[in-house]
Amino acid sequence: MNLYEQTPYWLMKNGIVSSYPSLDRDLNIDIAIIGAGISAALIAWNLRNSGLKVAVFDRRHVGMGSTAASTAFLQYEIDTPLTELCRLVGDKAAVESYELCRKAIYDIGKICGALQPKFDFHVVPSLQYASFNTHLANLRQEYLLRKRNKFNVEWLEANDINKTFGFMAPGAILSADGGEVDAYLLTHTLLKDFAEHNQVYNNTHITQIEYGKRGVGLYTQNQYKVRSKKLVIACGYESLKYVPKKIADIHSTYALVSEPLEEKYFWHKNSLIWETAMPYIYFRVVSDNRILVGGRDDPYHHPHIRPSVINRKTKQLVNAFRKKMTHIPLKADFSWEGAFAITKDGLPYIGKIPERPHTYFALGFGGNGITFSVIAAEILCDLIQGRKNKNAELFQFNR
Ligand SMILES: Cc1cc2nc3c(=O)[nH]c(=O)nc-3n(C[C@H](O)[C@H](O)[C@H](O)COP(=O)(O)OP(=O)(O)OC[C@H]3O[C@@H](n4cnc5c(N)ncnc54)[C@H](O)[C@@H]3O)c2cc1C
Repeated sequence: MNLYEQTPYWLMKNGIVSSYPSLDRDLNIDIAIIGAGISAALIAWNLRNSGLKVAVFDRRHVGMGSTAASTAFLQYEIDTPLTELCRLVGDKAAVESYELCRKAIYDIGKICGALQPKFDFHVVPSLQYASFNTHLANLRQEYLLRKRNKFNVEWLEANDINKTFGFMAPGAILSADGGEVDAYLLTHTLLKDFAEHNQVYNNTHITQIEYGKRGVGLYTQNQYKVRSKKLVIACGYESLKYVPKKIADIHSTYALVSEPLEEKYFWHKNSLIWETAMPYIYFRVVSDNRILVGGRDDPYHHPHIRPSVINRKTKQLVNAFRKKMTHIPLKADFSWEGAFAITKDGLPYIGKIPERPHTYFALGFGGNGITFSVIAAEILCDLIQGRKNKNAELFQFNR
């Protein structure tokens, strides 16, 4: 599967941070993790001192799956508003899911703080504005529900938005809890730390999985065999082939990073900004004084998206941004397309399925893929080590 087209900004900015060898022998281990994106990196890092023999395998290089293409907004607000999620999964599960995503932002902060040297992470507010007057009533309901459930939110009227953010919108929710991180570089940093006492393999395609009584056998494209007691599938959107029922649709999403701009153009605390319209656009400030704009999704994904399509989407994103932020002379510098999985309720799939014994899935699908990866790492590390996790039920496959 082609996970993205054209080179995402993070790959250009960071390049190949570390390389690892491909597997050239058979292995006998406790935990095999397929995938070396942010999901696998968090799981591997959490297991690094567990005393278990853990190894990570990726058919590409570390972080070069969807993680490299991510626009990396860290938000607790998932694509399904809390009001709607309550209807879909019940009030308790909905609020707990939102709360877990909120906590995950700060957990990433703690992980970044524990790395040596400390990894760059910022808490930033998140602003969701009503795209049209007709969206105001629903957004206000969303605000009241979140407020009632003790989320740190503020309601902004049109005048407040104009004064604080410099653009016109009928109303908005300002959340105190959001974050930003370079997910590609963080993936490399976590796996580098993990690899000090454990193994990471690049260019190692797992082409076949056998299930036995005591574990799994994995075969690589070169017919090396990995025997492992347990398996974690953290293959991002390419994991879908391992799940017998349909759990997600793959869409295309588009993103650009601007040429550097003067700081005077930036807005209140460099908040993450997004809207209520679907498909939405979103924007944030990234390193080197650039602005990232994303969105204008299509509800399908082709193996190869033509450059002309990406050019057209880039123009649409630039125009949409400049229509909102009329005073900011944004020009696109880098642009790309990425595959993007959507689930029926916006929640991820984490845990086991009966068809694949000894196997755990970390499928952080949806707009909050990175915060979901943090949650998946916490849940799976408990389950793998035989501990209960009270949140596991929220994201199980048979929900
Ligand atoms: C354009 C875009 C914008 C996004 N914006 C956001 C955002 O703002 N906020 C957010 O939280 N999330 C966002 N996401 C989602 C987020 O980036 C993903 O959820 C996350 O990066 C997925 O990480 P992963 O490790 O699960 O998958 P990946 O990064 O795709 O890693 C999976 C790895 O598995 C490997 N693999 C697959 N099959 C095999 C095999 N058989 N053998 C060996 N290796 C294999 C692949 O090579 C790949 O490297 C965005 C995604 C895109 C594309």
